[in-house]
Amino acid sequence: MRVLLALGGNAMTSADGGARPEDQIRAAGIAMRSVAELVARDVDVVITHGNGPQVGNLLVKNELAASVVPPVPLDWCGAQTQATLGFVLMDCLEAELARRGVVRRAAAVVTRTRVDAHDPGFVKPTKPIGRYLSQDEAALLIDHGETWEHRGDKGWRRVVASPEPLEILDAAAVAALVDAGFIVIANGGGGIPVVRDEDGALHGVEAVIDKDLGAALLARTVDADVLVIATDVSNAVLHYGTPEAQPIERVSVQGLRSLAGEGHFASGSMGPKVDAACRFVERGGTYAVISNLDNIIDAVAGKSGTVVVNE
Ligand code: ADP
Ligand code: MG
Repeated sequence: MRVLLALGGNAMTSADGGARPEDQIRAAGIAMRSVAELVARDVDVVITHGNGPQVGNLLVKNELAASVVPPVPLDWCGAQTQATLGFVLMDCLEAELARRGVVRRAAAVVTRTRVDAHDPGFVKPTKPIGRYLSQDEAALLIDHGETWEHRGDKGWRRVVASPEPLEILDAAAVAALVDAGFIVIANGGGGIPVVRDEDGALHGVEAVIDKDLGAALLARTVDADVLVIATDVSNAVLHYGTPEAQPIERVSVQGLRSLAGEGHFASGSMGPKVDAACRFVERGGTYAVISNLDNIIDAVAGKSGTVVVNE
């Protein structure tokens, strides 16, 4: 069985959101324990991960150091976090494998994902990123061409495009490493967003791809049987945050699509997970699971979390 495991923010930060290197290493170590356990049971695992907190930190560094060293664009932040998180996950995973006497190596692939230069997100950016600033601070960055929005009491926040991922350009490298027996970590943060020019050249763009939609695409690319989206809640929930809250367990794609249409899943968080799970199953995946990071092993078996099936 081949599983595409998408790790959320809580796999790389401490419970209180701490993102010091030691917090990230500790959290990754816990997540990789479950992965090593799966590998020891002959499950073929391919890993992807989010990078929101890490990119957020790079953006603050960009801002504070702008008069000393040149700020780097968002696609560079994506590449940098893929590399750093990839190496941390490799170290943690290989340590856990060695502990179990499993002889397998990990490999991280810096992965570019093609998006459409005409994606509507570039005209009307919607994805908030980075920290809140005052109006004066935001005004300076707006002068530099960035889009910032007033978001109530907290102040101003930058918004960027979150374009639809169309194609994982480094899929062949991922597949070759998977076939060679590596446990591959790829397409972190949904992939580095790039567009193709008319003359065929690729270049990175200022955008962030949704990690879960990127995971659904990667899952198909590596021919995964199961997609597991590991996050910080045990299930997708109906009437989330209200007294009528009710966790969804086993659900058909059609059923889940219609619940999504009723507005049960927030657009910046659970919405894309639900969409990714549905896409994966609609395109031939056996089942997709949205589950808590602590329950990965049961989730892979379809015994925990929200299990999306094609029936
Ligand atoms: P990740 O870093 O794993 O991608 P997100 O914060 O993006 O995590 O998404 C998980 C969050 O989605 C949960 O912590 C929860 O607050 C939020 N959420 C929004 N709507 C729902 C819902 N209907 N059911 C469950 N969680 C929801
Ligand atoms: Mg998220």
